[in-house]
Amino acid sequence: SGAISFKDVHFAYDKARPILKGVSFDVPAGHTIAVVGPSGAGKSTISRLLYRFYDVQAGSVSIDGQDVRTVTQKSLRAAIGMVPQDTVLFNETIAYNIRYGRPSATQEDVERAAEIAQVDHFIHSLPEGYKSMVGERGLKLSGGEKQRVAIARTILKSPPILILDEATSALDTHTEQEIQAALDEVSKNRTTLIIAHRLSTVINADEIIVLKDGRIAERGRHAELLDQN
Ligand code: ADP
Repeated sequence: SGAISFKDVHFAYDKARPILKGVSFDVPAGHTIAVVGPSGAGKSTISRLLYRFYDVQAGSVSIDGQDVRTVTQKSLRAAIGMVPQDTVLFNETIAYNIRYGRPSATQEDVERAAEIAQVDHFIHSLPEGYKSMVGERGLKLSGGEKQRVAIARTILKSPPILILDEATSALDTHTEQEIQAALDEVSKNRTTLIIAHRLSTVINADEIIVLKDGRIAERGRHAELLDQN
């Protein structure tokens, strides 16, 4: 399960300025699709429509053939795991942060998720900014490490659909490499939507959609798009 379908989607935050002008694509269950394009093209808007932060003005968005407007918020949230651009951590251990919102997860589950996301070596640490009464300081985590903590959280939730939004974070090459292995692992049996800045970060996607001026300008596999550009 987890097939996504956008059919002739039109959307504007402000009626005078359409953002999506008839966007259609399908993601078969278990596939990974990437949406790339310049800043402001409407990439993150696509993930917001899927999550129903906003509703389409024309066309439809559906999951497994069901229009998201007919799905309850609760089951929509259960179906989708979101790895945001900027993960804000609580002033608690990394293990606590991974487990937050997943009351049924055992300590073993947390450790396994941390291992897959490659954050197992610091789950007992506290995040940066933390300072205890005895002066103990938290660990400074890189952007990629924080994203891996968010990936570990998503592994515990185990939703059929994963959205990784790195549209504006413009990760450096090192950070991209850091999260790539964890991402490959977590997207294996899941429908995955990657919102990315650059083509170089989404080499393994089954399909890449290039969004420009509210329309799909190009689509294809990584090598095909490189040939054309
Ligand atoms: P991208 O992810 O491709 O950078 P977005 O989907 O975030 O682009 O945004 C597309 C356009 O919509 C941008 O011009 C942005 O300024 C505008 N926009 C985004 N969110 C809102 C909002 N909540 N209200 C009004 N305009 C918005």
